[in-house]
Amino acid sequence: MSDSLNVSRRKFMIGGLATAVVAGAGLLTGCTTQSPAPQEPDAAGNWDAESDVVVIGFGCAGGGAAVSAAEAGASVLVLESLPIPGGTTRVSGGALWVPANPLQKKEGIKDSIEEGRQYMQKGNDGQVEEELINVYLENGPKVVEFLMNKLQVEFKFGYPDYHPEWPGGKRLGRSLSPAYNGKGSGEALMAALYDYTVAKGVKFSLNTHAKKLIKDDSGKVIGVIAYQDGKEMRVKANKGVVLATGGFEWDKTLLKTYQRGPVEASVVFNPGSGGGIYSCGDGLRMAMEAGADLRNMNESWGVMVYLLPGWEEEVANYRQNAKDYKKSTWKTIMGDWFLWRGKPGTIIVNKDGKRFMNEACDYDTSAYPFYERDTYGENRWRNLPAFVIADSVQWSKYGIAGAKGDNVPDYITKADTLAELAQKLGIDAKGLEATVAEFNKYASQKPPKDPLFHRGESYFDRFASGDYAMAQADPENPACTLAPLTKGPYYGIQIHSANCGTCGGARINGKAQVIDVHGNVIPNLYAAGNVAGLGGPGITYHGPGNPIAGGVIFGYLAGTDAATKA
Ligand SMILES: Cc1cc2nc3c(=O)[nH]c(=O)nc-3n(C[C@H](O)[C@H](O)[C@H](O)COP(=O)(O)OP(=O)(O)OC[C@H]3O[C@@H](n4cnc5c(N)ncnc54)[C@H](O)[C@@H]3O)c2cc1C
Repeated sequence: MSDSLNVSRRKFMIGGLATAVVAGAGLLTGCTTQSPAPQEPDAAGNWDAESDVVVIGFGCAGGGAAVSAAEAGASVLVLESLPIPGGTTRVSGGALWVPANPLQKKEGIKDSIEEGRQYMQKGNDGQVEEELINVYLENGPKVVEFLMNKLQVEFKFGYPDYHPEWPGGKRLGRSLSPAYNGKGSGEALMAALYDYTVAKGVKFSLNTHAKKLIKDDSGKVIGVIAYQDGKEMRVKANKGVVLATGGFEWDKTLLKTYQRGPVEASVVFNPGSGGGIYSCGDGLRMAMEAGADLRNMNESWGVMVYLLPGWEEEVANYRQNAKDYKKSTWKTIMGDWFLWRGKPGTIIVNKDGKRFMNEACDYDTSAYPFYERDTYGENRWRNLPAFVIADSVQWSKYGIAGAKGDNVPDYITKADTLAELAQKLGIDAKGLEATVAEFNKYASQKPPKDPLFHRGESYFDRFASGDYAMAQADPENPACTLAPLTKGPYYGIQIHSANCGTCGGARINGKAQVIDVHGNVIPNLYAAGNVAGLGGPGITYHGPGNPIAGGVIFGYLAGTDAATKA
């Protein structure tokens, strides 16, 4: 991957050197210190760099925008905070969720845009603009084709839709896992996007934090103020600026302001990757300052996590090392996507010892019960704190949070009886015993059942969350995910509310143009990916690969529209 672009520097810098240095220092600690807003720039002249299209952030959305703008013949400059392009996308699974995609067609798997629409409408329950769903569905297959044919990305099928039983849902074919040049997952997708953009002449300015949009007197966005090594640079954008800065999952203030309840952490994989750490809401703030309307702000791509001792220090170190990202480690925040919580012999309970969910559901749905409040007494968050509980049969076979069998780390609580485990974890003991007795009554039947939360009724529960070998042998058998907790010792750990990205931001239309609070397009401003108020589109995470597909599709549309305007 290339070095940062060298830009010529003006002698006189608007905002002054002192401001710029403070801004740079603040950025090293990520979201904890906000840099001061640059002073109002004059719109005339004095640019450090110029391009037709300026893309801010190079994850899937920025990658989509940069390739399409370059493909359409525009000059493109990418400003990226990290020293390595790729963002959260680079450390992700890299899957794209696209109904009626070319690989399904090739493999003879039946699907249609109409079925995709039916499924997405069901998931959103009316909470989305139809235009965004239509644009996603109509352009998704074209973008996948572009990735396959032009970028040489190879795909294979991944997990089922999260709700394959819904009208229009599918068990196979919509989730596509990428491979490229010997790489897999998000690394493959981002390497393919990067290589193609470089081949097309796209320029990169790394370690560069964009902070403010510049508008002319008519309200058109004509450039960006950014900082590189604490020095201010002004970048002119002749045709458009694409905000592709990711979500705000690391900014505690924004999380508290906009999310529907407590979010304790976010997930980033891959030690030494640098990915995702600048998801601090910079793009959101720039859009708001430019007058953007917002949407979907209380939504995120939810997931439950285990927070192991030392996690807060590790996050701080990760930020400190963002520039020297290879030093960073990532061991203490562990996402339970569907790794342990849905295995037979495991349940999740709240402080009262009561179950409150289908433990085998998809990871976005799993975070929903964390936002329920009691309607009596102290009006507590009903399901916080929450605990994963397993018996010894489960523990020796699957374990929890990366540990099992004889390896019982300090962060796992072990006890001979359920009552003792409850007492150690701070759970109501009688409540837990009653819950396990009730759960076991149905989980011991043949076939096992869960009349309370319907665990095991969906193919997803059995195939994705349950025991993989059992599901391969008989995917219809609910025993893949259901078994009684019968034998001590018992094991437990607290599980927390988290996400793998927020997904609310600037309201966009079907061309990814940003819409202002009066419903008008902000000329020359685009947004895609988690900085856009897009979601899946809407409130639901439809299937594995939904965030990245949405990011690439709307990024692609943004780049095309910006590049092709007169
Ligand atoms: C472990 C993990 C696995 C996942 N797996 C999948 C999956 O398989 N499929 C899927 O669809 N989703 C997955 N997700 C979610 C998905 O990865 C993200 O939602 C998606 O990658 C976000 O893309 P983006 O382009 O919006 O943001 P990002 O990929 O985060 O890119 C934003 C970029 O903007 C840069 N940036 C931020 N602020 C500035 C600034 N001020 N100036 C310049 N640059 C800036 C950032 O450094 C970053 O590089 C996963 C998430 C995680 C954490």
